Amino acid sequence: MLKVKEYNFWFVTGSQDLYGEETLKQVSIDSQKIVEGLNSKENIKYTIIHKPTVRNSKEIFDVCNDANNDKNCAGIITWMHTFSPAKMWIRGLSILNKPQLHFHTQFNRDIPWETMDMDFMNLNQSAHGDREFGFINARMGNKRKIVVGHWEDAEVHKDINKWMSVATGYVEGFNIKIARFDDNMRDVAVTEGDKVEVAIKLGWTCDAFGIGDLVEEVQKVTSEEVESLMKIYEEKYEICEAGQIEGSVRDSIKYQAKVEIALRRFLEKGDYTAFTTNFQVLHGMEQLPGLAVQRLMEDGYGFGGEGDWKTAGLVRLMKIMSNNVGTSFMEDYTYNFEPGNEMILGSHMLEVCPTVATDRPRIDVKPLSIGDKNDPARLIFNGQVGGAVCASLVDLGGRMRLIINEVNGKEVEKDLPNLPVARVLWTPEPSLKVGAQAWILAGGAHHTSFSYVVDAEQLCDLADMYGLEAVVIGKNTNIRNFSNELKWNSIYWMLNK
Ligand code: MN
Repeated sequence: MLKVKEYNFWFVTGSQDLYGEETLKQVSIDSQKIVEGLNSKENIKYTIIHKPTVRNSKEIFDVCNDANNDKNCAGIITWMHTFSPAKMWIRGLSILNKPQLHFHTQFNRDIPWETMDMDFMNLNQSAHGDREFGFINARMGNKRKIVVGHWEDAEVHKDINKWMSVATGYVEGFNIKIARFDDNMRDVAVTEGDKVEVAIKLGWTCDAFGIGDLVEEVQKVTSEEVESLMKIYEEKYEICEAGQIEGSVRDSIKYQAKVEIALRRFLEKGDYTAFTTNFQVLHGMEQLPGLAVQRLMEDGYGFGGEGDWKTAGLVRLMKIMSNNVGTSFMEDYTYNFEPGNEMILGSHMLEVCPTVATDRPRIDVKPLSIGDKNDPARLIFNGQVGGAVCASLVDLGGRMRLIINEVNGKEVEKDLPNLPVARVLWTPEPSLKVGAQAWILAGGAHHTSFSYVVDAEQLCDLADMYGLEAVVIGKNTNIRNFSNELKWNSIYWMLNK
């Protein structure tokens, strides 16, 4: 998988000098125990680093400043073991530019009914100390996630880890570089967008190249390189019968292998982690990249078809957040309107990522029926069963909106013998009727980033970090409220651009 830096998180405990040395010593011991405890949990995949207790404005400023300047720090976790007068936090929080999780916990789980005395009360003050701290964050309008619960609770670990994935996506996301071969598909509206605005808000850069740049790279690939990649294909995937012997079908697969090697080389040279293609602009290419694109997505690259660079960036971002598990470029392809069994079939011309496959993908070569190039090789498979999200980032002119639909991945029970592309089936929440109505009302695209791993809460937290509007279409969505939400949001975002 495309490498992501090893990020860590800082655990910052707030207090003040007023309590005296003995209490502060205990504060430090307890918070270290919490950090050790969290680090030992299997559900927490990132390392937490314990920081010395902060007791005054200067120490708070310094730790925030250090966090900003530490390339490996993806965020800070704040907790007030005791009361920590929050005016002391103003200077530090005002410069903090890393994500913040306010962990509202306390050291003891239960009230020690038999032994509780005033010493205990002076030491264990999170219930009110965290409220004082919460106020200053609210007063300053600081973005932060609040997680409530005892630090040994497994649910809490899950919540913290989910936020850490979001923070990692946010911090690493600023390094996303998208290479696009030519422009987006002619006349298409939803794949357009303001690249400068995206660079400002999300940090993504998007550079255009001529398809000739890729063709040049394809021509340099040697047949030895292709043969050794073919061996990998043979190990990892089923290959259609005609592709197992030398001939035109096998040559088609070899051509995609060539494109894969060339594309990877091209992207690596420029540090690109996402890319787009466009079937309308393929001068000098023998096939539309299909299998090649799927292989790169499987490795963690973001992708968008038809020049859709916003979706390419979003797929890459969600691959970072999901650690490249169960996440793909997707398109709403067709509906099953059968009463009681309504579903969406998601697919694309070719480019669905094998990380969403439930079975062993099969390589086949079939006509594309669009464009005028040779039949491309592609991986064919069925999608998984389980909860998932479809997410779409659209440009409304002056601002962006992230639209998220919670969906349920369904088993692909029918064979679809004549459909030569990977396919995923799902039912959107709350139903196909309401889900699709809300999606269209919000202006959601036909292209999405689809994930079984990233959830709607994470995407909303992410949008919060960026300062983007996010709307969720889920179990409780009804059209009247949703439509009002869009109207109210439009006023909010007019004021908070
Ligand atoms: Mn498409």
